Amino acid sequence: MPTDPPGLTTLPGIYVHIPFCLSKCDYCAFVSLPCRRPPGSYLQAVLRQARQLAELTWSREQVFGSLFIGGGTPTIYPPEQLAALLGELGGLFRLEADAEITVESNPNTLSLEGLQQLRRAGVNRLSIGVQSFDDQLLRAVGRGHDRATALAAIARVRQAGFENFNLDLIYGLPGQSAEQFRADLATALEAEPTHLALYQLTPEEGTPLAARLAAGEQTLPDDDQCATMEESARKLLGAMVYEQYEISNYCQPGYQCRHNLNYWRNGSYLGLGAAAFSCLDGLRIGNVRGPGLYRRLLAAGQAPYATAEALGREAAFRETVIMGLRLSRGVEIAELERRFALTPQAYYGTMLTRLLDLGLLTLEEGRLALSERAFPLANQVLSQLV
Ligand code: SF4
Repeated sequence: MPTDPPGLTTLPGIYVHIPFCLSKCDYCAFVSLPCRRPPGSYLQAVLRQARQLAELTWSREQVFGSLFIGGGTPTIYPPEQLAALLGELGGLFRLEADAEITVESNPNTLSLEGLQQLRRAGVNRLSIGVQSFDDQLLRAVGRGHDRATALAAIARVRQAGFENFNLDLIYGLPGQSAEQFRADLATALEAEPTHLALYQLTPEEGTPLAARLAAGEQTLPDDDQCATMEESARKLLGAMVYEQYEISNYCQPGYQCRHNLNYWRNGSYLGLGAAAFSCLDGLRIGNVRGPGLYRRLLAAGQAPYATAEALGREAAFRETVIMGLRLSRGVEIAELERRFALTPQAYYGTMLTRLLDLGLLTLEEGRLALSERAFPLANQVLSQLV
């Protein structure tokens, strides 16, 4: 199911956060608790919040273009429970007929039967957290699966009929060489995924990995080595059918992740589950982070919100420019003008002229975009526009 080409306005999405994993990876700072059997009561809480949000006039007026169950590891739940959740959500919200429905997964939670059940429940896109095919590197960051498990899981995903699937890979792992990363990429490409997400490892404070790095027990590849890995990915994938449509994301033509495109365009979305965020036409609401508190609040009939923020027009404009510039296509000037009555030229003035003169940004066909040579320097360039 190819997704819309970039440039079309995306419909709002629905995100469901599942904060449980079989084990905790050593670099993970996401809201996710290790457990063997995730509580069914958590899914009940998600449904309670879904019912609250479905009552909003705003929700009733929307047609949603995507539903993304992420985590954590959503596939830690038995497939029949995920299928039931999807069925309930489909009854509460108006989903587009060919809505993109993604489930995130880890290789050690994917059985053929479970995958087939998810297909029958309407899931049409699967995202698999492979991270690496190198057993030594996987062990170095405490991943709970190995190469053989990942390869078998990918084969089952295909066998179950998922034509549209993403593989997540991480580069910059402890002790990883550029050669090892190229080997990971080559193995990933043999599986012919429609989408590849390549993220650089960031050692988040408070994680076991950060502690080992601080103690000198492990070291990460330096910036130059990571830049080489990025560059080799860009070259290898560019020579194939893959398009780098976002700084960290590549896809076969027509297979952009529609759900994430909506985020990068600063669109609206509903967020269900602990630590999830909703954004309703610029009003951003954050759910409480703890899964236990989230469940208790909803069981007591209360709203599970911890934060609410309405961005002013200029702040929302800046945010939309910065997020949109992550896309290789960039941002449409006319669209910005329509939404915010502002243009980058008028708002950023000489700063924008300087970035254009330096060849870091381009302004062509009514779109402002990072130039090809600015892609590796994206963070530095974007920080000028905050
Ligand atoms: S699988 Fe993902 S969410 Fe779960 S612990 Fe590992 S990095 Fe965190």
